[in-house]
Amino acid sequence: MEGASPLHAETSSAEYARLAPRLCAMIEAWMREGEQPDAPVMPHATERAYREHVRLALPDDGVSDDALLAVMRELLENSVNPWTDRFLAKLYSAPTVASMCGDMLLSAMNASVHVFSASPALTLVEEECVRALCALYGFGAHADGITMPGGAASNTLAVQTALCCAFGGAYRRGGIFALLRTLTEQYGRVGSGARPALLTSADSHFSIDRAALASGLGMDAVVHIESDEHGRMRVDALERTLAEMCGDPAHPRGMPFFVNATSGTTVLGAFDPLPAIAALCEKYHCWLHVDASWGGAAVFSPTLRDTLLRGVERAQSLTVNPHKLLNVTHQCSFLLVQEAHVLSEHAIHAGYLFHDGQGAGQGPVADHAMKTLGCGRRGEALKLYLTWRQVGTRALGAHLDAGVRVANAVLAAIRANDALEVGPLAAPLFLQICFRPRCMPGGVTGSDATRALEARLQEARQYAVDFAPTRRGDYVRLVVHPRVPAAHYFALLDHVTALTRE
Ligand SMILES: *Cc1c(COP(=O)(O)O)cnc(C)c1O
Repeated sequence: MEGASPLHAETSSAEYARLAPRLCAMIEAWMREGEQPDAPVMPHATERAYREHVRLALPDDGVSDDALLAVMRELLENSVNPWTDRFLAKLYSAPTVASMCGDMLLSAMNASVHVFSASPALTLVEEECVRALCALYGFGAHADGITMPGGAASNTLAVQTALCCAFGGAYRRGGIFALLRTLTEQYGRVGSGARPALLTSADSHFSIDRAALASGLGMDAVVHIESDEHGRMRVDALERTLAEMCGDPAHPRGMPFFVNATSGTTVLGAFDPLPAIAALCEKYHCWLHVDASWGGAAVFSPTLRDTLLRGVERAQSLTVNPHKLLNVTHQCSFLLVQEAHVLSEHAIHAGYLFHDGQGAGQGPVADHAMKTLGCGRRGEALKLYLTWRQVGTRALGAHLDAGVRVANAVLAAIRANDALEVGPLAAPLFLQICFRPRCMPGGVTGSDATRALEARLQEARQYAVDFAPTRRGDYVRLVVHPRVPAAHYFALLDHVTALTRE
């Protein structure tokens, strides 16, 4: 059936039958190209080269199928190719094919998971993922959660939720102004002591600071707690800070209400000691949030869960990003909460959208937009669901275990290599290894050697790695992705060793 709109000049199924198989074949070819041993990770070494090569001017009149497919091909050819398995610069790698299929299904349904009636099956899929994740983390019978567009967004919603719940709910209606009044009248806080404060380690992700900015608390509300040489929050420093700040109603940094513990820090992959932090949060009545965006997937491995994530069941909220270690396509992040009702703090009764009167204290909320600061939502949980359904819980655990085994083998190889120097490391080791050449050609050492190496690798385009500042200077932060065969890491080390000798 044809419509009057040029966007519906033929039936969509006919158009899909023409375009989609050709695109699928093109994608398959690009994946195969990436899988070739010497395929470059990225087509160009500099931003300038991309700006010269990618021509994107939008036309006044449309183009043929062939021309449109040529555009798609050009975009693929000018993109980083994750199928090389040598893109080791970021905390994600090539996605599972099941999650790619999930993306296609989501596009075909084009349903918004804001109200149940618009997305019944996808709402149930999200609920099942939330239920299964909460069970793995040992959250109780009242737990709930929601998908969010990324870990930063999940952390921000956690801060908003904690603010709504702390201080007798004053924030939800009266905002920051009512909060200050409540702190003064009910808690006897005076002066700058009457501001809420958020505690997080010096190694935590910047999104915690940004959550303070977004919630109206301001970045000065964030108190960074010292971390130890392995990147873990120092519990003695946390305890001292909590005692000082809670004990002095006029403390210039305010009153702690929220502690963020990180499970898997961005640079070192360190896990903050949850049992000790949870005990302090209970003692000082603080909300415990665990930012497990990166390391949260360790919960799938019984061994890693018992060592790295012990105590996680005592958190009030937790962020985990399946789009990182579980290789689900971007974006797929969950905010889980211990008590379902806390998410109802975000409910606004918009009669034109939410018809069933659900909300604060009225049982489970099936209209998921009620639980967020947003409205329309993509059903991202489906991508985790299909991956999990395809391989099962045990395989996801074995995936993590395999990654940690490779990381330890790679670390041993770096230690045995005289040309390389190991930087700060998590203890126990997780999936990041900081290292640098002892000396690059021309007598370049220290942080300069790191940058010189990174520049050489960038030029050659065979491996992508990133570097990061640490307390001992700049080091290459090598990310060990469980999905990437170990041989790639050993070949990279050989390549780096050769570069130091040139
Ligand atoms: C990646 C990461 C984030 C941010 O997640 P996005 O999905 O990129 O927004 C937050 N915290 C930690 C510890 C991370 O590793």
